[in-house]
Amino acid sequence: MIEKIKQKIKTIPGMDILLEQEWTKNAQAELGRDTVKRIFNEELAKLRHLILSGSDVDVSLDSLKLTLEVVLREQVRPRLRPMLNATGVVIHTNLGRSQLSKPAIEAVTSVASSYSNLEYNLKEGVRGHRNEHIETSLCAVTGAEASLVVNNNAGAVLLCLSALSRGSEVVLSRGELVEIGGSFRIPDIMEFSGAKLVEVGTTNRTHLKDYARAIGENTSMLLKVHPSNFRMTGFTTSPSRADIASLAHERGLIFMEDAGSGLLVEGSELGLSGETDIAESLRSGVDIITFSGDKMLGGPQIGVIAGKKAIVDSLRGRPVLRALRVDKMTLAAFEATIRLYMKKSYDEIPTLAMLRRTDESMKAQAARLAAKLRKVSGGANVAVIRVDDAVGGGSCPEQPLRGWGVAVSGHPLGSAGHLASILRAHSTPILCGARDEALVLHVRTLRVEDEREIVRAFGEI
Ligand SMILES: *Cc1c(COP(=O)(O)O)cnc(C)c1O
Repeated sequence: MIEKIKQKIKTIPGMDILLEQEWTKNAQAELGRDTVKRIFNEELAKLRHLILSGSDVDVSLDSLKLTLEVVLREQVRPRLRPMLNATGVVIHTNLGRSQLSKPAIEAVTSVASSYSNLEYNLKEGVRGHRNEHIETSLCAVTGAEASLVVNNNAGAVLLCLSALSRGSEVVLSRGELVEIGGSFRIPDIMEFSGAKLVEVGTTNRTHLKDYARAIGENTSMLLKVHPSNFRMTGFTTSPSRADIASLAHERGLIFMEDAGSGLLVEGSELGLSGETDIAESLRSGVDIITFSGDKMLGGPQIGVIAGKKAIVDSLRGRPVLRALRVDKMTLAAFEATIRLYMKKSYDEIPTLAMLRRTDESMKAQAARLAAKLRKVSGGANVAVIRVDDAVGGGSCPEQPLRGWGVAVSGHPLGSAGHLASILRAHSTPILCGARDEALVLHVRTLRVEDEREIVRAFGEI
């Protein structure tokens, strides 16, 4: 028995033979010979293990080719790759949140492929600061006196709390003591920053007098946090920004807001209600506000701190700022995005354009896609249906967006779940929604050019 096993292991083709095969050449060119060797070593070890445990495996070169080719193909493909979002969730955190606009992509390409004045003041011929390139335009679109950018909004909140309130008390309503997801929990961030959280009010109701009563000698800040993916309805109340601001300023405190999503236009421009835009928050007396660049703003991942000049200036020299600093590609994309806001070219920003899509355009796209899919779906039932889309990214959770979609059911290949898993495995993976027994493609988040890829995927099925 042992002899037989030893004999079989000996017949496994050697590394030299494998590496000479024509079907390994592309992988060797793409990944390098050493990586391919390492992959084969791992696969051959598994094979030997199987043989030793008594399995009857085929170790011929032809049989090895079948398995190893699949492994190599998977490795040659980039791990991070584009996919199609047919979920109707516009700011889908798992799918990379916002797509960049064309001008933003062009700006990234030109700055990334050349030297730039990232930290150089061309007028005076001396060292400059990377933040200077966007401060003026950010102030123009938000109405803030000064601004600063860091790696993301979590970093912005952390920087502000640790710089402005380390060792002192920050007052926050219990109704805003939230977890945003991805382990960003307000109490934890507060603890990490060294600020002391003082909770006031109740989950559903907090009054101005609750804030007033909590202010003590060691209080430095009143904080407001956007509850993001969470909404309370019914018997609820919280004081207005203007009231909290008056109280803070009477007592010599800072009023800070973590706005989460960076809404730079009035909500009505996007057909949304109940969201306060950044300029409005600042106008109502917020001293310093932080928000993300890649949520409702529709730009790259970045965190903005905007507000009173004296406060923003006090953050500039902090060592932690260096650890949170923004890359040149991000700055380029962000500047280009902000310029689109200055021009009010909202429909050039994909996130805003998807939120602003008209009923007719989505209905027409759903009808077009359905007609194409009927031809390649093996007699499945393909229907145009009304769907509920979502803003995502923690904005307007209670406010579904009315959209249109294509429902596919009764596919000869099997259930909607099975179909969904096949579409996820497509060369450009496609993520769909589902309803009852049907697979649903929401068209709000699909570009016209995505339709061809979807039709191809259904054709290959
Ligand atoms: C999303 C969000 C954050 C985290 O922002 P990132 O840019 O993802 O770091 C923080 N606070 C609120 C209220 C948010 O909605």
